[in-house]
Amino acid sequence: MSRLVMKFGGTSMADLERIRRVAGLVAAEAANRRVAVVVSAMAGKTNELVAWTDGAGEAAGNLGPSDEEYDAVVASGEQVTAGLLAMILRNLGVPARSWLGWQVPIFTDSAHGRARIDDIPAANLIGALDAGEVAVIAGFQGVTRGGRLATLGRGGSDTTAVAIAAALKAESCDIYTDVDGVYTADPRIEAKARRLAKVSYEEMLEMASLGAKVLHSRSVEMAMAHGVLVRVLSSFVEPGGAPGPGTIVCDEEEILEKRIVSGVAFSRDEAKISLFGLPDHPGVSSEIFGRLADANVNVDMIVQSHARSEGAANMEFTVGRRDAARAVEIVKSAQSAIGFEEVAVDEEVAKVSVIGVGMRSHAGVAKTMFGALAEKGVNIQVISTSEIKISVLIDAAYTELAVRALHAAYGLDQP
Ligand code: ASP
Ligand code: MG
Repeated sequence: MSRLVMKFGGTSMADLERIRRVAGLVAAEAANRRVAVVVSAMAGKTNELVAWTDGAGEAAGNLGPSDEEYDAVVASGEQVTAGLLAMILRNLGVPARSWLGWQVPIFTDSAHGRARIDDIPAANLIGALDAGEVAVIAGFQGVTRGGRLATLGRGGSDTTAVAIAAALKAESCDIYTDVDGVYTADPRIEAKARRLAKVSYEEMLEMASLGAKVLHSRSVEMAMAHGVLVRVLSSFVEPGGAPGPGTIVCDEEEILEKRIVSGVAFSRDEAKISLFGLPDHPGVSSEIFGRLADANVNVDMIVQSHARSEGAANMEFTVGRRDAARAVEIVKSAQSAIGFEEVAVDEEVAKVSVIGVGMRSHAGVAKTMFGALAEKGVNIQVISTSEIKISVLIDAAYTELAVRALHAAYGLDQP
């Protein structure tokens, strides 16, 4: 019998009524397949738990997401939903049991708060599945070799699901969420956005890391590495109904429909830092970005330009908004070593990106993007590109306008 992994996010598990609906979907699949289910905590629960640790951390000095006890607290939300779903399944007459990370076991490294799964010995799980029992697995958590609970970073249940699917050699990893698939743009911003029937791993990875919130980017990375077929489906179906076709995330070769751009993504979680009056000589960039890297600040887009005065340069780069204050502090504290005159930070920026594997073999993709933005009077502050995406940094006030303009410019609203 084939194996299937089903994963349900926080909004699908938000209360008992929804968990019952989830149980219905699980029971339908369990009738003719071996099913492992991965669950998130109830919507909002993890935020609440994180807030508790913030309070306790302050009292205790400086504990935070890298702490073992942070993980002990924030992993608890998934224990509750796993247990509840297993109970409801049993009440429906479907044999089921809950599995916590350490019981599977899902082994991780010891980077608490952002641990990586490194091994899942699946023999026990397979034994239970073969005995006809649905395995309800708590997402987001694992166990270190030292026997401590570890969590995978916010949104990490998707990664649990893909890792379990890889370990079980499951036919598919079905990620049930509150949208019925991956769209060409956020439908809340662009009403003409369309569901993609298929999207490649690489495109999905770019979309996830460029702001589309459907899947955790690490889960896509893992699916790509292990060739796990992922489907994104809606859990919001009529009682007794079946989910729609959703979006399949798969190898590029399996996608017959050829398009140049597959989607437009955006992120407002950006801040731009500008350094003015830098000395224009070798070693300056290394000085700046070395310090930021040492402090674990992720830098995304970078541009350097000549200043008007001879021998001077300006540098602009972006970091996550959460890291902005810290990044400014770091460069300021090294002002004399780096040798700049002034630093400024702008948090009112957004990154808008177009993504598509078709870009590799087509010219003129950037021209279309810049033309569409110019026509709407949207000024581009920074540009960055990869083989399959172009991102621009713009004034955050124009985010919606830019997303819609680009969506139309690449014909994504046409069926
Ligand atoms: N409950 C965790 C979070 O909110 C993990 C997840 O839902 O994926 O981040
Ligand atoms: Mg999620």
